[in-house]
Amino acid sequence: MGLLASGRPLTWWDAIPHLNYVRQHGVEQFLNVYWATRNRQGDVLKWGDEIEYTVVVLDDVQRVSYLSLRAPEIIAELQRAELAAADDVADGAPAPVETLWRPEYANWMVEGTPGEPYACYVSDLMLVEKNMMLRREQIQQLLRPEEHVVSVAGYPRIGCGVFTRPSGGGVCGPLARSLYLPDAVINPHPRFGTLTRNIRLRRGGPVDIRMPLYRDAHTPARVPVWEGGERHGACVVIDGAVRAPLDDRIEREEHHREEVAESTDGWPAATASPVSSAAVAVRDPQSDVAQCFCRRTGLASIEQRCADGPVATDSVYMDAMGFGMGLSCLQLTLQAANMDEGRWLYDQLAVLAPIMLALTAATPALRGWLLDTDVRWDVISAAVDDRTPEEIARQLPPKSRYSSADCFISTRPEMKPELYNDVPVPIDPPCYERLLQGGVDERLARHIAHLFIRDPLVVFDDCESVDDRTSMVHFENIQSTNWNTVRFKPPPSANPRGSAGWRTEFRPMEVQLTDFENAAFTVFMVLLSRCILAFGMNLYIPVSRVDANMGEAHRRGAVREGRFWFRKHVFAREVELSASVSGGYRCACGETHQICFSSMSAAREGNCLNGGSNRSGKPPCCGFRFCADPDPDATDLMSVDEIMNGKPCCEKHSYRNAYPGLIPLARAYLDAMRGIDSFTRHRLGAYLDFVSARASGRLQTCAEWMRHFIEAHPGYAKDSRISAEVCYDLMSACVDIADGNRSEPALLGEFWPKHMMARGISSQEFSELRTQQHDRDSPMLRGE
Ligand code: ADP
Ligand code: MG
Ligand code: MG
Ligand code: MG
Ligand code: MG
Repeated sequence: MGLLASGRPLTWWDAIPHLNYVRQHGVEQFLNVYWATRNRQGDVLKWGDEIEYTVVVLDDVQRVSYLSLRAPEIIAELQRAELAAADDVADGAPAPVETLWRPEYANWMVEGTPGEPYACYVSDLMLVEKNMMLRREQIQQLLRPEEHVVSVAGYPRIGCGVFTRPSGGGVCGPLARSLYLPDAVINPHPRFGTLTRNIRLRRGGPVDIRMPLYRDAHTPARVPVWEGGERHGACVVIDGAVRAPLDDRIEREEHHREEVAESTDGWPAATASPVSSAAVAVRDPQSDVAQCFCRRTGLASIEQRCADGPVATDSVYMDAMGFGMGLSCLQLTLQAANMDEGRWLYDQLAVLAPIMLALTAATPALRGWLLDTDVRWDVISAAVDDRTPEEIARQLPPKSRYSSADCFISTRPEMKPELYNDVPVPIDPPCYERLLQGGVDERLARHIAHLFIRDPLVVFDDCESVDDRTSMVHFENIQSTNWNTVRFKPPPSANPRGSAGWRTEFRPMEVQLTDFENAAFTVFMVLLSRCILAFGMNLYIPVSRVDANMGEAHRRGAVREGRFWFRKHVFAREVELSASVSGGYRCACGETHQICFSSMSAAREGNCLNGGSNRSGKPPCCGFRFCADPDPDATDLMSVDEIMNGKPCCEKHSYRNAYPGLIPLARAYLDAMRGIDSFTRHRLGAYLDFVSARASGRLQTCAEWMRHFIEAHPGYAKDSRISAEVCYDLMSACVDIADGNRSEPALLGEFWPKHMMARGISSQEFSELRTQQHDRDSPMLRGE
């Protein structure tokens, strides 16, 4: 995502006059790129992951952990190689670097990607874990002795008292107005603060996140909103300091520059401390009660939630964007051969999103409480929900801008709109009309016009000086703040031969503790995407059922307990058992079923992963067939285990004509590749075995493991609370597991330490590895 650097970001009310301008020009920018690149063909597979790391401070003397707010300095340091390479331009292209670093929302987060996207060789899959190790190593090298890098999805004590180092100063800052998170946690890039403030101002108050509380034997009936604080009239006093979030109306008044009286009549000025330019917090020396006053009216003017709101709730309440955007994920971007393939992949991956969210669950606790869910998604969804109360009441739009995909976009015949696009998709009518008039087909126009119902949130004062023929900033502004489970990324510029083609991003997965796990999930998803293309798989189910699956993924222990809608027949056409074989998979029935690659023009010829869309017109020949089912589009409720590891298609046929399962298909795909050396095959096989073990429940998800760790800790009082001590021990364990210094059989089983690669790799070593791997490969082959 491109971060704008020029201009001054506008506050919400100043941005309002420009919203339609940004939308209109965003559509024009999309149309320019669309026309220049819609027929772009034969892009080879390129792909890359993104990991969000967390920097923690472990105070081994006090046995307390904190989040370190030093990420911006660390990122600046990490980016030096990239900047130096850009300066040192040889042959018009910057010298390659092995890692790239990007700012993320919170000041404890560091986002890293491989320096160059990976290519289409099997050997590229072997680089993933090494590069992840290199990234962890590079961060660690810049840390102070008490600092550590961890890849946890959520820090359990986020928002508990002073939970950062440095402390970050007071809460209720002008950006988030949070009772818990000081604004100092927000990355200083203007995008992030502006997003925070404008989401809050657009909706008319701080965001309102309520996550279900996990109830244990001694859990209090209601969760206090203000920990260790007292409520004095309309104010909250915590640790002797006034924490008084202001009403947004004051800001509005302030914005309109009405007269603001300086006096705080009747209260001794010496005890008044400014909360913002429009208000002041005052402590009455007699009663020692603090109150917050609007300077203009002199009336106590505290936000509704403080004045009348509950001081305890039956869920875990959080009130700032940082609670969501401060969580970490594992993302994957895949380049498609052409737009059609990208659209197909978008649809297929949208269906897989809830399954992979459940399988990578890693967020059992936040704000110091155990949650009755294992995943982060709904937290972020509420953390950036900019809809007004009226919009939410009318369900227009029905979802937050952070949500699962709402409509499928492929135009292939397998996509039956009347069956699958079955939820209302509000659109921005002018955008939709313009896109249709500009020659975009109905389905893609609907997708884009649906993204464009959202207001741009970060508008710069120079926004009207952008050239739509060369820029995508207005399109990206809206696209990049529609945080969906999948994202369809058009080429970055209207240059038909530009560096990147049509891409699909897979965004639901939670980050895992070790490089091995993150590499395993990444490699699995890359292989599965190849299976989808090469075997002509069709995973369509109605969007309403994908939504239901998202809900199911939020159930605690969803991998074991959840039942997800999934397609019974995952191949585009019913296919006959084939005698011509070049690969096979071992099915749950104990037999080896064969898979033939007659339609895999690319994969057939060596170990290239381009996959080759199955557009030859010939049915894919997948080596097994299903019992005749009256409804080829039938869906079934399946466990994650069944979806991943296979299931009989019906009782009568038992395993004979089984639904093969995604892992066996990925194995079959690997088996069919030519020229993979045994070391590579073994290692990639271990990744698949590991994902399979997680899916079967034999190994715990990260969330399950953390929950057990907390519950088994002597400092845990069965009250759902994560004490500072428990949090410290958990974070220490996470550091040790990632470094290979602590064995956790329930989490990693036989994959640890056997499958952990030796620690320690330098940029130089990685670079040599990368070039060698490519030298050994056969020349790059094209998809079609
Ligand atoms: P965003 O945050 O917008 O998703 P990032 O730059 O953080 O973007 O991550 C983009 C990911 O896409 C990286 O993993 C990168 O390696 C990968 N990538 C870069 N170029 C291509 C390409 N042409 N095709 C597919 N993936 C690419
Ligand atoms: Mg991003
Ligand atoms: Mg990114
Ligand atoms: Mg990110
Ligand atoms: Mg991304």
